[in-house]
Amino acid sequence: MIVFDNIEEITHYIYGERQAGRTIGFVPTMGALHEGHISLVKRAKEETDIVVVSIFVNPTQFNDPRDLEKYPRTVEKDLSLLESNGVSAVFLPSVETMYPTPDNRVFNVGEVCEVMEGKHRPGHFNGVMQVVSKLFDIVKPDKAFFGEKDFQQIAVIRAMLRFTRQSVEIVNCPIYRAENGLALSSRNSLLSEEQLAEAPKIYEALKDSIEMYGKHSPEEVMASVTETLNSNKFFKVEYFEIVDADTLLPVKKWDDSKHIQGCITVYCGEIRLIDNIKYK
Ligand code: AMP
Repeated sequence: MIVFDNIEEITHYIYGERQAGRTIGFVPTMGALHEGHISLVKRAKEETDIVVVSIFVNPTQFNDPRDLEKYPRTVEKDLSLLESNGVSAVFLPSVETMYPTPDNRVFNVGEVCEVMEGKHRPGHFNGVMQVVSKLFDIVKPDKAFFGEKDFQQIAVIRAMLRFTRQSVEIVNCPIYRAENGLALSSRNSLLSEEQLAEAPKIYEALKDSIEMYGKHSPEEVMASVTETLNSNKFFKVEYFEIVDADTLLPVKKWDDSKHIQGCITVYCGEIRLIDNIKYK
């Protein structure tokens, strides 16, 4: 496994791989890797000849400087995990390498990045699009693998590709959960033992809400899940929305759309956890 920290060298490496006729799979991450990330690597290995992983905690996507500061960083452990999972190359750039000058680009991709996460984390998705578009430019992958844990992010990346006209195939990968149902997340390592024991209740509430699908309106389901979780002293729901899985706009009735997803963000103490569930 080769670790690159500069753009010229990885560009040269990618060029060589392409010349040799190999297809390139790409998994962008912010590090503090866990089995959720590795599930993306495994999928990439199945679908492309070589797998490139980036580790970069992108400052432009953090609207809260304290969140950026406390974001977990475990580079040595990450590298050995990637090596043991057969990754070909890792791109580990510094902030100066990625942003030699400030990135002032604004991606006007519409409502998909204004609702839910977009509303609660102003500028977040613009930062995500800045970094992912740069990474796609550098790695020039055939396919890029993204986790459905960040459900809205995938829709935003797809919208970005229509905007930038970059041609990368986006592959959705299912949420990888612990046995107790908790969606694995780098942020879970910031939870106390007590919080970690409660956190699976987020997915429990989402799963229970499937029982209500079709029998109660989306609005009633939203209210019920929100109330259940807010009645637990460990949680504060930031939003729970039931939306069209493609446009991410709210649905009023279950037959408003063919594909419907419930997306939630919950504060567990100071830690912001996200999850989602498919209704249809
Ligand atoms: P992050 O390092 O949090 O930016 O995540 C990098 C990629 O891994 C994103 O595409 C995430 O959606 C994905 N990812 C993170 N956690 C999980 C999980 N539990 N299951 C599936 N994908 C995940």
